[in-house]
Amino acid sequence: LATLFLDRIEASDLNAFLHVDRELTLAQAKAADARLAGNDAGPLTGIPIAHKDIFVTRGWRTTAGSKMLENYVSPFDATVVEQFNAAGTVTLGKLNCDEFAMGSGNENSHYGPVKNPWDKTAVPGGSSGGSAAAVAARLAPAATATDTGGSIRQPASLCGVTGIKPTYGSVSRFGMIAFASSLDQGGPIAKTAEDCGLLLNAMTGFDERDSTSMQRPRENFNCALNNTLQGLRIGVPKEFFGAGLAADVEQAVRAALAEFEKLGATLVDISLPKTELSIPVYYVIAPAEASSNLSRFDGVRYGHRAADYKDLADMYKKSRAEGFGDEVKRRILVGSYVLSHGYYDAYYLQAQKIRRLIAQDFQSALEGDNRQCDVIMGPVAPTVAWDLGDKTDDPVANYLADIFTLSTSLAGLPGMSIPCGFGQGEKNGKRPVGLQIIGKYFDEARLLNVAHQFQ
Ligand code: GLN
Repeated sequence: LATLFLDRIEASDLNAFLHVDRELTLAQAKAADARLAGNDAGPLTGIPIAHKDIFVTRGWRTTAGSKMLENYVSPFDATVVEQFNAAGTVTLGKLNCDEFAMGSGNENSHYGPVKNPWDKTAVPGGSSGGSAAAVAARLAPAATATDTGGSIRQPASLCGVTGIKPTYGSVSRFGMIAFASSLDQGGPIAKTAEDCGLLLNAMTGFDERDSTSMQRPRENFNCALNNTLQGLRIGVPKEFFGAGLAADVEQAVRAALAEFEKLGATLVDISLPKTELSIPVYYVIAPAEASSNLSRFDGVRYGHRAADYKDLADMYKKSRAEGFGDEVKRRILVGSYVLSHGYYDAYYLQAQKIRRLIAQDFQSALEGDNRQCDVIMGPVAPTVAWDLGDKTDDPVANYLADIFTLSTSLAGLPGMSIPCGFGQGEKNGKRPVGLQIIGKYFDEARLLNVAHQFQ
């Protein structure tokens, strides 16, 4: 199996993989074979998997898509990687992504953009563009990814595969290179909901090395896959279907909703009035946290160090100027600004207050005696994948494309993307559309059930 996928990866021109190492992979495959022969195997033993290059991996380089970490090899494994290794998966390599996971099109990677396998003139989405493209092109049966404001769901949508961002706190962030710590969450991208459930079974769980890790009993996420959808109430937020939503995306999403009605579900009109505010709120909070997290890259301990410098301050400045790309610098500037004296109250604190209101919108729809629905559905992204190069000079155009994924992240809720059809805009191939399914806290098993019944 590992050889089959390695051969495909070698023959591919998508730029989905940043590091491949046949020897390392085949050594792991041999170990898995031994476990299979010795009756010491679990459901994932011997299954090839690829990791987003933001999870640190012993023996492999981990760059986070940045020049800053071009030659970085971690001395330890991220918890997620450790868990998969223990389950016996075989690492195929490390996947391209936007630099420090900042982006929506994978065009902010220092190592070049990833191509969308459905149409190589289109972006794969981001920041987990390598993960989604690799699974869509069958270069890997499954991949890890991270989602801070949509980076699992949006590339899954744009590449026509399935991805789930679990409830914040479910997957350990230890060894997952930090972007915005109160939002970052790992999760799987795979072909189906069932596969995602198997992967979640391996990658979730309490980790004392992550202070926001949740202490909960182990769960089998695939326990409810075959439950009927009879009586399921699906909330359809009007704010997810307003101006800005492309007609072809709306059509595919509405057709999917009609399918769910046929499966016995009822559609309920709901309102999440603060949706629009999620863009300004996220683009204050995420850069603020990023500016703090990225201060560790100083050229002293690890990462890029400038060749020539006058003194220590000059070394910091030059190393950071050379090591970070434009989008990362933009966020450090914005983040430092909103956290600075005199602006903290005006921007950062305000954003935190609105974040709470955004979470309350979801709470009143999904929880309590007056709840209106069991899950929420809508589009993942306002359009199908755009052309490579179309939005590279326009950061705000990239930010606006995150409108339907940011609020779920700000609230810490689980969200999922499943393929639901194709839109127009094709040049050389079809461009997929994803359906987003959002649930209450820790309701992943239900989301997977709902998705599985559709798939
Ligand atoms: N597109 C969003 C951003 O650039 C989300 C990225 C992510 O989820 N990592 O911040």
